[in-house]
Amino acid sequence: MRRSYCRCFGLIGILLVGQGGASAVPVFDLLPDVTTNPAYLLDTEVRDDIQEGRVFLTLSNATPNIGDGPLEVYGVAPKDHGDESTQPVMQRIYRSDGSSYDVEAGVFVYHPTHEHTHLANWARYRLREVLEGDGVGPVVAKSEKTSFCLLDSIVYDDSLPGVPGFPVYVTCDVGTQGISVGYQDLYDKSLPDQWIDITGVPDGTYWLESEVDPANHIIEKDEGNNTARVKVIIDLEDPDPGPNPQGIIAALLTLLQRIVEFLRMLFGRG
Ligand SMILES: [Zn+2]
Repeated sequence: MRRSYCRCFGLIGILLVGQGGASAVPVFDLLPDVTTNPAYLLDTEVRDDIQEGRVFLTLSNATPNIGDGPLEVYGVAPKDHGDESTQPVMQRIYRSDGSSYDVEAGVFVYHPTHEHTHLANWARYRLREVLEGDGVGPVVAKSEKTSFCLLDSIVYDDSLPGVPGFPVYVTCDVGTQGISVGYQDLYDKSLPDQWIDITGVPDGTYWLESEVDPANHIIEKDEGNNTARVKVIIDLEDPDPGPNPQGIIAALLTLLQRIVEFLRMLFGRG
């Protein structure tokens, strides 16, 4: 009998501890939420000087993180600079209590023309027909799977909770890459692979579409806001669409980014 009393008191003790635990602050994931910034998609150019006999639509692309926490990825197995084999990547998810856990998130590839490491399949660009009433029609041309080095290129929205005062992810290394809350990663249209092969596509107005993380390798808060779409005019006689206010702003921001990168390199923060 005495032994069963002891068990009973033990159970009450566990229940009391359990109740204390229930009133504690709940712990939750601080997930990133990566989107595509339509403003940069307006910065385009039609070029026939990239590859003999082919016509390309080049475009800038920026992917802001508007989530609750950083997007952070790191390569698992150490690799030498220039090694073109792929490298498994883990995504680190931070939690509200300061802890974190890791999940698989695709692969790193070495990009020989950019001469640094990219997260594979970060973006996909498509050109689509414009249907009546601005409807979104079928794909007429699309990019290869485009890889990116993930960086805090420029601030996107400094009013979001948890925006760091300075860029955190600043190298295209085989180690850690990422995009902080409120920052965006920008790839300018002048970079290799920032294009869609539009050879044979007739002149006209099209939807230019950019989707970030098209294979859903990244865990994020909202998978439904990854695509942005803008209208572009393709005119082979007038390859540069010319003054477009948002395009000019994008170009100025790119220039500003270059200056910031240069200063960072100068003062050893890169
Ligand atoms: Zn790159």
